[in-house]
Amino acid sequence: MRQADIFHPDFRARPWWWEWWQPSNELSQDPPRRTDVLIVGAGYGGLSTALELARGGSRAVVLERGDFGTGASTRNGGMVSGGVNLGKGISGKNRDSEAWQVRKKALLTSGVESMTAIEDIIAREGLQAHFIRHGRFMGAFTPAHYADLASRVDDFNALAQAGAEMLPRERQREAIASDYYHGGMLVARAGHLHPACYYGGLLAAAHKAGAILCAQTEALAYGRKPGGGYVVKTSRGDIEASDVVVATNGYTGDVTPWLKRRLVPVASHIIATEELPAGLGEALIPGSRAIADTKRVLTYYRLSPDGKRLIFGGRARFTQAPPEVSAPVLYRYMTDRFPQLKGTRITHAWTGNVAFAFDWLPHMGRTPDGLRYLMACNGNGVAMMTYLGRETARKILGGSNAPANAFDSDDFPTRPLYGGDPSWVLPWVGAWYRMRDWWDRRRAAA
Ligand SMILES: Cc1cc2nc3c(=O)[nH]c(=O)nc-3n(C[C@H](O)[C@H](O)[C@H](O)COP(=O)(O)OP(=O)(O)OC[C@H]3O[C@@H](n4cnc5c(N)ncnc54)[C@H](O)[C@@H]3O)c2cc1C
Repeated sequence: MRQADIFHPDFRARPWWWEWWQPSNELSQDPPRRTDVLIVGAGYGGLSTALELARGGSRAVVLERGDFGTGASTRNGGMVSGGVNLGKGISGKNRDSEAWQVRKKALLTSGVESMTAIEDIIAREGLQAHFIRHGRFMGAFTPAHYADLASRVDDFNALAQAGAEMLPRERQREAIASDYYHGGMLVARAGHLHPACYYGGLLAAAHKAGAILCAQTEALAYGRKPGGGYVVKTSRGDIEASDVVVATNGYTGDVTPWLKRRLVPVASHIIATEELPAGLGEALIPGSRAIADTKRVLTYYRLSPDGKRLIFGGRARFTQAPPEVSAPVLYRYMTDRFPQLKGTRITHAWTGNVAFAFDWLPHMGRTPDGLRYLMACNGNGVAMMTYLGRETARKILGGSNAPANAFDSDDFPTRPLYGGDPSWVLPWVGAWYRMRDWWDRRRAAA
């Protein structure tokens, strides 16, 4: 198939999710001059903070520099799981001391709470998020990755109530109609939702609860007031606030350089196929589980909520790239896993930013000059950013300085000389990861 032929004649370079709910300014209001809490960024994190604050009787204002829903929160894969997706944040080198084991337990417990939080909010607010909890299959790229996953099952079940079990290669087709992996891990406590419908519901819920939501309003600078509190300069005038919460994740800019230096923004890319022949979706992924894998250049995929398309994401590039660059790479990854899809065309391709922390963990806390923040989703923020927003709001409402959870800590690492722009190094990291994936696979085949 020629590269040009993978694109459907009606191809659109925007999220397929936006065919259901698209970014809008409908609920936007004029920014007031004064408020209790000013929140910068209207993604899941900012909106969840605002919703909880407004429900708790606090005046909350959310600033969004674009239309509502232009950030990662309407662009993601919609995959949801709690705890088991902390990945390198809870494993990796130098992490087998007794103190680390205690911390790992706390992190997994807080990860579990993130899943409970999103379920509670969806139920409480009656959000039409198309959330199904059919589990997740984590495909092992090599036999060594399979052994590594197997070594974590007990922890995941004991500490994260994950309902995890290993599926050896000879039973893999129970989870996925592919022989690409060397078996994998099934996690029962996981699922997927429609990210843009969830976002639209959260936006409407925050508005209904009384939060003031301001689109096309960019935070430009902030300063502390002598008597306490802050003045935030915005593109639509100054706003005074007792507290400021920064929830800008992969779009964090120069307004908050302390935070920018602690985040590595990385692009993630997704394609959506045309409608598949009846029954093919269910045949590819029985039970409509979410799928991800252990490759360094990872992929993640699932069926659309109507079961008719495959939504396939991955790090086609580590930086922003146009669909003519990212889509053919993802198409190849997709047909490597599902040769059955050769000839199927793509109707949508899009991209967005996630933010990694140097310790691979999500973070909430306060900067040295007192701004509150919640960020560093490390690629998994649907449940996590919702949760950290709720936790931040509860902390403000409760007036306590005690850590709210295991992600609430002053230890948010950076690196010497790092200013927050990794764009020169990311292509090299991508090439290095691809080379190591190739080598791992070659060794596994030998
Ligand atoms: C392609 C892709 C696939 C993903 N897949 C998954 C997945 O399957 N599962 C999962 O759990 N996570 C996934 N994620 C991650 C998830 O989408 C994010 O973690 C989550 O949406 C982050 O929410 P947020 O509120 O922190 O940030 P965002 O939703 O990115 O919102 C931040 C907002 O801040 C605004 N902003 C920035 N600066 C300013 C300023 N100065 N003034 C005003 N506004 C400002 C931006 O415009 C933006 O709208 C994926 C992400 C991408 C991009």
